Amino acid sequence: MGEPDLRVSRERALGELGDRRFDLLVVGGGIVGAGIAAHAARVGLAVALVDAGDFGGGTSSASSKLVHGGLRYLRLGDVGLVREAHHERRALSTIVAPHLVHRIPFLLPLYQGGPYRPAFVQSGILLYSTLARSRLNWLVGAARARELVPPLRLEGLRSCALYADAWTNDARLCLANVRAAAEAGATVLNGAEVVGLRSTGGSLTGADVRVDGLDVEVHARVCVNAAGPWVDQVRRLEDPTAGTSVRLSKGAHVVVEAEGEWGAALTVPQDEVRVTFAVPWYGMLLLGTTETPWEEDADRVQATPEDVEQILAEAAVALDPALLSPDGVRAAYAGLRVLPAGEGESVSARRETVFTRSPGGMLNVAGGKLTTYRRIALETLDRLRADLGLHRLDTRPWPLPGAAGLDETVLPRDLDPDVRVHLLHLYGNLAGEVLASADGDSSLLERLHPSGPDIGAQVRYAATHEWARTADDVVRRRTTCFYRGLADRALHDRVDELLGTVPGRGGVDRLVSGT
Ligand SMILES: Cc1cc2nc3c(=O)[nH]c(=O)nc-3n(C[C@H](O)[C@H](O)[C@H](O)COP(=O)(O)OP(=O)(O)OC[C@H]3O[C@@H](n4cnc5c(N)ncnc54)[C@H](O)[C@@H]3O)c2cc1C
Repeated sequence: MGEPDLRVSRERALGELGDRRFDLLVVGGGIVGAGIAAHAARVGLAVALVDAGDFGGGTSSASSKLVHGGLRYLRLGDVGLVREAHHERRALSTIVAPHLVHRIPFLLPLYQGGPYRPAFVQSGILLYSTLARSRLNWLVGAARARELVPPLRLEGLRSCALYADAWTNDARLCLANVRAAAEAGATVLNGAEVVGLRSTGGSLTGADVRVDGLDVEVHARVCVNAAGPWVDQVRRLEDPTAGTSVRLSKGAHVVVEAEGEWGAALTVPQDEVRVTFAVPWYGMLLLGTTETPWEEDADRVQATPEDVEQILAEAAVALDPALLSPDGVRAAYAGLRVLPAGEGESVSARRETVFTRSPGGMLNVAGGKLTTYRRIALETLDRLRADLGLHRLDTRPWPLPGAAGLDETVLPRDLDPDVRVHLLHLYGNLAGEVLASADGDSSLLERLHPSGPDIGAQVRYAATHEWARTADDVVRRRTTCFYRGLADRALHDRVDELLGTVPGRGGVDRLVSGT
């Protein structure tokens, strides 16, 4: 495959944004926008996908990184939602992205004085597992539980339920959708903020997109607003009087080092509805999440020391506190859940996902789960069928770039085994393409940090094939350095240095300001 030069592809994307006449402009390149763009481009529509920051830089890299049915929805009586999510989990882990979505057992410990009775949990897990078409639904004793989760707290433990779900890499799942959109002919650009919406005779005809200080006029027949927590801000670009369609809730996570070999993730009941998780993730452990109403600017969300304290305290319900010292925290992050406002405009909520139509015809889509992004994308296109002149929509799952032929993907034997496995997990069958970035420069096969499996070639690849513009894009969303607590000054400098060697990098600013 020819290597796209970042300068060329960014330059080309910028040119196309101004020159093409698009069927569909998607505002926001989180998992929802990227999924919509990929599905729309695959049915032959001319699609533009723009993100103000980085693809996946909002909520879609700040989740609990689970592809799950959602045990708590069962508790809330939403069987249909759980069934649909399980269907999606199966599709994602077998066809769409098996390198990024991995099944894992979940252990749910029940302690004396806890919010659930074992018999109640057993029947709930039985229903959950039936909906999941999984046979994993039994109560296990302390010894087996300890085998699965070595630091499990045993005092007061009555029994443990076991069920199955999956974990993922949310940011890379999002990127894979952006790439699928680009491969299907979409024009995609990050660092591209919609700052105005244009209409003719009351109907939306496009947008003004700001790229590196320059405004580009983009023409599109239809606009979808998939700006996540910023959804109402984008709505108000068209109609400054638009009310509030969603409310936001902050969720934080911390990452600590996993102790021992974890054979399962852990679900920790906190009250009758709320559970928190401890999820093994590339050798680390993700703990979370919190839930606090958020009324400030969505850009300002971040994990605070109080969040970290709360998460560690809640994890200590079921884990050895020795694992949970604040000193052991490798990383902390926070994102914003989008929930239906439940009042105001004519909101037709498909459960958690809020669809609204703006006066000029823009379809606003917000909320829902990472797990069901494919469903949200398909429903969005279904709602736009008449506007876009679409006929039948094929709802069958298809493999994202990197997903097919995993069994035949072989990497050089001289790579360290942990690096080999890591590259296969992150890139699937594109891992060889990542290594090709190191051709002629063996220093790119070196680790970015001695304690982690990410290597220099990934940085170069992130810039040439994955739209990374900054060290932060690489460290947080293309590699796992941030989560491992390895993103120190030296690593940032090394990443910056490698980005600086990519041909044409830095030329975008010149190009834009020179036009
Ligand atoms: C704490 C937490 C944990 C979660 N855990 C899970 C989980 O384990 N499993 C699961 O299935 N779901 C989970 N979710 C839900 C899931 O993460 C979200 O539903 C999903 O990521 C939302 O994606 P999105 O594309 O709508 O929004 P986002 O990812 O936030 O994307 C919106 C994008 O729009 C861009 N944007 C904003 N304004 C503009 C503009 N003017 N112009 C251009 N671009 C713009 C932003 O830069 C951003 O990238 C969790 C959510 C939270 C908050």
